Amino acid sequence: MNNLENFKKLGLSEKSLLAISKKGFEKPTQIQELTIPLLLQNTKDIIGQAQTGTGKTAAFGLPILDQITENTGNVQALILAPTRELAVQVAEEMNSFRGGRKIGVLTVYGGQSYDQQFRRLKKGVEVVVGTPGRLIDHLKRGTLKLDQLKFVILDEADEMLNMGFIDDIELILSKTPQEKRVLLFSATMPQRIVQLAQKYMSEYEIIKVPSKQLTVNLTDQIYFEVRASDKFEALCRIIDVEKEFYALVFCRTKLKTDQLSNALIDRGYDAASLHGDISQAQRERILSQFKKQRVTILVATDVAARGIDISDLTHVLNYSLPQDPESYVHRIGRTGRAGKQGTAITFVTPSEYRKLMQIQRVSKSEIRKESLPKVKHLIKLKRERIVSEVNEIIEAGNYHDHLNIANELLAHYPSDQVISALITHAYKDEFSSEKYTEIHEPGTKHVPKSSRKSESSPDMEGITRLFIALGRKDKMNPHKLIALIQKEAMLDAHLIGDVEVYDNFSFANVPFEEAEHLIETFRQKGRDKKPLIVKAKGKTKSTKKPSSRSRRKR
Ligand code: ADP
Ligand code: MG
Repeated sequence: MNNLENFKKLGLSEKSLLAISKKGFEKPTQIQELTIPLLLQNTKDIIGQAQTGTGKTAAFGLPILDQITENTGNVQALILAPTRELAVQVAEEMNSFRGGRKIGVLTVYGGQSYDQQFRRLKKGVEVVVGTPGRLIDHLKRGTLKLDQLKFVILDEADEMLNMGFIDDIELILSKTPQEKRVLLFSATMPQRIVQLAQKYMSEYEIIKVPSKQLTVNLTDQIYFEVRASDKFEALCRIIDVEKEFYALVFCRTKLKTDQLSNALIDRGYDAASLHGDISQAQRERILSQFKKQRVTILVATDVAARGIDISDLTHVLNYSLPQDPESYVHRIGRTGRAGKQGTAITFVTPSEYRKLMQIQRVSKSEIRKESLPKVKHLIKLKRERIVSEVNEIIEAGNYHDHLNIANELLAHYPSDQVISALITHAYKDEFSSEKYTEIHEPGTKHVPKSSRKSESSPDMEGITRLFIALGRKDKMNPHKLIALIQKEAMLDAHLIGDVEVYDNFSFANVPFEEAEHLIETFRQKGRDKKPLIVKAKGKTKSTKKPSSRSRRKR
């Protein structure tokens, strides 16, 4: 029990200590050290902020279990989580902390049968962990009673207090007794959310574990300057240059995650995407595949990746720049965990450079610039890798399985031909430089206008001017045009600029990053299945008809 001293000091009960020793925890994390005594000793509400993976569940879970009366059948703690698998994860963790206590923990989420939930609720449970929608169902049916509630916990609180959930949370809170403690835990806690949270809390304390010392130590942080249209190629080169690439890749929108994972799969990588529109069942399947490393590249949005506890990632890659420094720290905290070195990579387009510098300053991280690997170097590396891997197999004596085939082949052909043919068979076009496309220097400023191909668009710094084959004759107006683009690209209206609507067509500026996507989406939606949107040609006020041939790069 010696190494439990550190936990004992915090005031936890013998039963909690027993559970901790079974879990094999050796010492409390910072958030646990700060939260547990407070939760045990006073009655204040708490806002707790610490990075993902720092054991926030135990920080609130253990002291709460210590204050629950066993075997009453009354719900005394209600834990709210934004997604089903987070609810399941928290409930499992809570169960493991019981240390033999007669405390029932029930998970309640949509998609699960009501019957089973009714039965358990009727029998009585002490802790309920759930997602808001289904909890409200039960509250309305009167099958869930909260009159004996002592604790309400919002896990991933910033998410729970966001637009999508806030009404549900208010409704649930309105069914709880006045006298209770409200606890908020999250990895990020924007000021806006803290202000909102105060509405629901009495006297409260903020516990904040700075993320800097948690991430920066073991995470090597790199950025690459790339044009939006070169990002995919850049990503492939990075994957190919690494011996191991087990990574989360972050995109800003659901559509981008799907597009990117599909493109990666086409190129032969084991990728999958995760976002809010994916069904729960599929989501679980994808996560389990990722945990088993059958899928090694998971492309996700911030929200979809939230709270998911995956260790051992070699890389986190920001395909699109995170919204703010806090999400940057949160994202890259997924790698470099548990004493292992990890790498965080960020793609920056020229127009995003200032934002990156701001992230670097606020998060106090050191993000180093690197250049993308050259194709020649990649191919050389791949060759060296084969030679060294074959060496390893021979040294380890693992070559006996196929000696028959080897001898058969060698009876007919010289050995160099056989080996070369086998490499072609095994690696196909792996060593061909044609797999890769050219990557442009990101600073478009340095490219003289005259040397650009005639087909290329009048790209300004990070901005692309689009030609839209809809005009006043189609009842188009600037307002409608912005709405159309906005809906498809999920862009803030202020990012859509210089809108001009003429009789037969219109123009608008959008960020680089969105242009390709918009063009692709509206490919066949124009008259006679012609592309509805293409890059504007020549001068921004060109009046040429749209070309039916829009540039498409793979
Ligand atoms: P968070 O909610 O902060 O993202 P979790 O509560 O999900 O983190 O915990 C992440 C993992 O760390 C879990 O597997 C948990 O069992 C483990 N863990 C929690 N506290 C400790 C500790 N003190 N020592 C070792 N592992 C811990
Ligand atoms: Mg958590």
